[in-house]
Amino acid sequence: MLWRDPLLTLAALLLTAGKPRHFDSHTVYRVLPTKELHVQFLNEFADKHLHDVHTWLNSLPASYPGIVTTVRAGFSFERLEILGVKISYGTGRPIAVIEGTIHAREWISTASVTWFINEILSSTDASVRSIVDQFDFYIFPVTNPDGYEYSWTDDRMWRKTRRPHVPCFGTDGNRNWDHRWLEEGASSDRCREDYAGPMAFSECETKAMSHFLTSLGSHLQVYLSFHNYRQLLIYPYGSSHEVADNAAELHKMAEKAVKALESRYGTHYAFGSVADAIYPATGGSIDWVKGKLAVPYVFLWELRDKGQYGFLLPPDQIIPTSEEIFDSVLSILQDVWDAIRC
Ligand SMILES: [Zn+2]
Repeated sequence: MLWRDPLLTLAALLLTAGKPRHFDSHTVYRVLPTKELHVQFLNEFADKHLHDVHTWLNSLPASYPGIVTTVRAGFSFERLEILGVKISYGTGRPIAVIEGTIHAREWISTASVTWFINEILSSTDASVRSIVDQFDFYIFPVTNPDGYEYSWTDDRMWRKTRRPHVPCFGTDGNRNWDHRWLEEGASSDRCREDYAGPMAFSECETKAMSHFLTSLGSHLQVYLSFHNYRQLLIYPYGSSHEVADNAAELHKMAEKAVKALESRYGTHYAFGSVADAIYPATGGSIDWVKGKLAVPYVFLWELRDKGQYGFLLPPDQIIPTSEEIFDSVLSILQDVWDAIRC
């Protein structure tokens, strides 16, 4: 087989240079994971099933030996991996976890998180390096793999996980966490999109992620979650009865981050607590991370747009969205580093 021979593979890649549509993407990302190819990866995101994302993640340790390792938080109900990468330039740094695509149809979350991974690995910008090298990252582009795959194969607008709850399927993965579960903005109706599940952590995906996060211990300082759409940067809590202990600090960081975001393309994001900026909704991951694990710096982005295209964001907005989000994440990481280093 031609593609099993690395030299022939490379030759074939060179021959097909300039004809990206004919690339074997699985091979390309393994052999040549450059920034240009990552741009191509995102430009062709319309062809990116879960398998392609995982193939790309699995290619990174060979490209960045000693820096990247793959991490599996666990398995989904359908026994797909909840796959991520650990990126570390040394031991004992504060940990930042990035959670993508807990809601299946929110594909720009997957794209922006893979962009973030590629940027922190490949950027030579001193101002970027001085921030990202201070943290250990654990990054999971797709935390609801069953739903994500289903949104590609069967129903583009699928949101939930895929475990059957007769007569319907799936649970809202961002209403199933064990913090004020089913109190507000969640449903006990199995067929609703915001169905919270039969009990907290009933779903394989949320249970696996919660165990993984708990295992990180007190080094876990930052938790960032990516959704779309609405153009919001929000922080705990989703409960209308609870205020984060450091709400003022989170608010200030969010304010600065949305300014950084806006400075690139003029995209405006509102910000505030979940309950204030959107609506009360409990059982979400960021509330559990904040309330149960006492992680100080916890944020959630609702990415582009404001409803014109909604979940069907056009491909030409993928990279601009990813770029401006990267700016805002850097702003937050800088603020966190300034807050915790002394
Ligand atoms: Zn969402």
